[in-house]
Amino acid sequence: MKDGKCPRCKSDTVYMKRRGLGHGSSGLYIYISKEFATRPTHDVDHYICTTCGYFESYIEDKARLEAVAKDWKKVG
Ligand SMILES: [Zn+2]
Repeated sequence: MKDGKCPRCKSDTVYMKRRGLGHGSSGLYIYISKEFATRPTHDVDHYICTTCGYFESYIEDKARLEAVAKDWKKVG
């Protein structure tokens, strides 16, 4: 989706905006056991396809992503 193409309907009507969708005024909380809900992140980019309405969210805070990799259960 970051390439401008919708993975669902294959349209090129993809738009992005940092903090484009609401998670509350304080930001998005990622629940990591060591720092449970202590610091919200605001570095979230949202992508929306204006043809079908599909959207994706990307956390761009590298430190948070590393913390998730240590704390969350890996899929697959
Ligand atoms: Zn679409």
